[in-house]
Amino acid sequence: MPNANLTFSPFTTTVPGYPRVATGRVYKTLLEHFWNHRISVDDFQTGINDLVQERLQVQLSNQLDHIPVGDFSLYDHVLDTAIQFGCIPERFDHFKRGTALELYFAMARGKDGVPPLEMTKWFDTNYHYLVPEIPSAFYLHEAKALDQYQFAKEIIGERAKPVLLGPFSFLKLARLSDQDLVDRLQELVPLYCQVIQSLVEAGASYIQLDEPSLVTDISETESVAFQTAYHQIGKVTPVIIQTYFGDIARHYNWLKELPIGGLGVDFVRGKAANLTAIQSGFPSDKILVAGVVDGRNIWRSDLNETQALVKELAQYVSLERIVLSSSCSLLHLPETVSSEDKLPADVKSALCFAQERLGELRLLSNALQKGNDSVSEDWNLATKAFQAWQENQSRFIPDVQQRVESITDKDTSRLAYAQRRPFQDQALNLPPLPTTTIGSFPQTPELRKARTQRESSPEFYEQAIKNEIQKVVALQEDIGLDVLVHGEPERNDMVQFFGDQMQGFTTTEEGWVQSYGSRCVRPPIIYGDVARLQPMTVKELAYAQSLTQKPMKGMLTGPITILQWSFVREDIARSQVAYQIAIAIRGEVHDLEEAGLKIIQIDEAAFREGLPLRKGDWQAYSDWAIKAFRLATSGAKPTTQIHTHMCYSEFEDMIEAIAAMDADVISIEDARSDGALLETLKEFQYPLQIGPGVYDIHSPNVPTVEFIENKLQATLKRLSLNQVWVNPDCGLKTRKYEEMIPSLKNLVEAAKRVRACQKA
Ligand code: GLN
Ligand code: ZN
Repeated sequence: MPNANLTFSPFTTTVPGYPRVATGRVYKTLLEHFWNHRISVDDFQTGINDLVQERLQVQLSNQLDHIPVGDFSLYDHVLDTAIQFGCIPERFDHFKRGTALELYFAMARGKDGVPPLEMTKWFDTNYHYLVPEIPSAFYLHEAKALDQYQFAKEIIGERAKPVLLGPFSFLKLARLSDQDLVDRLQELVPLYCQVIQSLVEAGASYIQLDEPSLVTDISETESVAFQTAYHQIGKVTPVIIQTYFGDIARHYNWLKELPIGGLGVDFVRGKAANLTAIQSGFPSDKILVAGVVDGRNIWRSDLNETQALVKELAQYVSLERIVLSSSCSLLHLPETVSSEDKLPADVKSALCFAQERLGELRLLSNALQKGNDSVSEDWNLATKAFQAWQENQSRFIPDVQQRVESITDKDTSRLAYAQRRPFQDQALNLPPLPTTTIGSFPQTPELRKARTQRESSPEFYEQAIKNEIQKVVALQEDIGLDVLVHGEPERNDMVQFFGDQMQGFTTTEEGWVQSYGSRCVRPPIIYGDVARLQPMTVKELAYAQSLTQKPMKGMLTGPITILQWSFVREDIARSQVAYQIAIAIRGEVHDLEEAGLKIIQIDEAAFREGLPLRKGDWQAYSDWAIKAFRLATSGAKPTTQIHTHMCYSEFEDMIEAIAAMDADVISIEDARSDGALLETLKEFQYPLQIGPGVYDIHSPNVPTVEFIENKLQATLKRLSLNQVWVNPDCGLKTRKYEEMIPSLKNLVEAAKRVRACQKA
């Protein structure tokens, strides 16, 4: 018999998930110490239990009513789900004989030559999940959800809200589609029912099933399968379906008919469409989890406006059925602004990380419960801080805004490729199948150390960087590459390096966000108009060029990648911010040309992940993203060869956009794909030059000359000799010199052999 319908007191609060990392990156330290055998299994377990407890307590002390449990994970919650339901590929059989932790980390990170699960981006975030491999039969491998719930209940009691990744999204994330997904969903759902049953028996009432895939493009067949699944789950108990990252308007009519306890809806990303859906009527027996404060970005909410939104929702939903929430899990936010001592004071008071987000929910809940007339002091402080930032003029640079307004078509177009190509050929005088690398060279401990001394002993730092550049240039000459790079020794990170040198950016000290496993990133904050203060890369690159007769390729990061890997202001459109960054990069391109560089590469590693979750929205994005890239590059002289690099090969559906970027040369990842990309390029008659990566730098393997030769021969069957470049598939910073040198030697030798047979 299903539970009675859920109701709570009016305006309770929740979040779909909370950060794992914690102040001081306790999470990272624990994991890495364990992996490096610096702590025992027992100490690790104790450390993790303490951390989980502390995570719960932070939420409790912020008076959150329904606290997520099971969102915490030792690496990734998709992996947790996979293991729970027995999705353990055969290659890990051997590890099943060891401890659960051994199996878990083997699947996450690989072990003893057994490769881990593939990793990819979680929707359009910078969090990575492990792609489940779906076995021929599911089974319940462990009772993790129940264990976690019982552990949490001891600490936070009734507030504990079990969170599961829903079965539909789980299979979608495993990349099943249509009939396969339908079949497997039917098999998986009974196991979900068992898990949910166990949670109900243990006392859980609010059970959250995350189904973010509902905001992506799903087929008719899939939506029918979804409904069937939740009819079955509804027989156990009415769960809450949690969506985020977009609107669910297209599915609303059938979603609201499902036998579920309620629906979590994103009113930040999908605001207009979701609001219209709710205004069409909301079932009186369901909870609306209203995601009204932002889980993806770090700015304070406009509490007055948010309160008005909730009041609007309250016209359609009874008060005790409205739960106030963040738009998505707070996993994507740093922990707390209070750890930041060095941020400019005005920027700092405009910010809101995870803990502060909980504070906002509490303020909203209190204000809504009490009604308008009794606004608290905290409310006043928060709304004043918000207002002060709105009115703060110091972040605007009128020149920059004017420059963006005055962009014309001329600023975003170069002399036609066919016409500029001969100039470049003449200026560069390269052989057919030119060889090059993507930019970075192996990072050594000495280099990292030198970079930390940039401020304290600048002379030492500069000399160390120069030495490194010298070493890298000499090495490339020795190997016989045609187009050299400087190795990027001065860069800690391809985005932060530029952010640190531009106006409008700031960096946190402790603003860590989980990227994958123990790996955390500290995204720069773009708070104001962006301007380049001085040349950012010219010193190192001009020096590098001075060391060789061969062309040195100057390395820059492109506007979309900088945008995508930062926390971005919201008072102007993303496209405008992208144009501002593009103008800064354009200035740098100019300065590099002046300094004598003939080739400039503008990396757009994140171009693809910026694509909206639904195809219908792609065009609008590509339009401004391409414009930004072209704005950054089109100031270059016709003789200057513009390169770009992207870290993936799934171009089938975006090849037109790639061509429209009009980069003379693009290098891409293709070492692992089976020629699908090459076919696409051939069919499209890709007009520009391209270097499909000839070997995989993500593995320590050294490719043989024959391997690379074969790859090149296959490429030349589909592309013409004068458009193919020879390069690895990404930067070499994660490799060791012992692996890299023989690999590049083989690459150069393979290019020579193929050239020779083309002549013959
Ligand atoms: N130029 C960068 C490098 O070589 C590109 C890195 C990337 O694409 N992620 O490291
Ligand atoms: Zn790359």
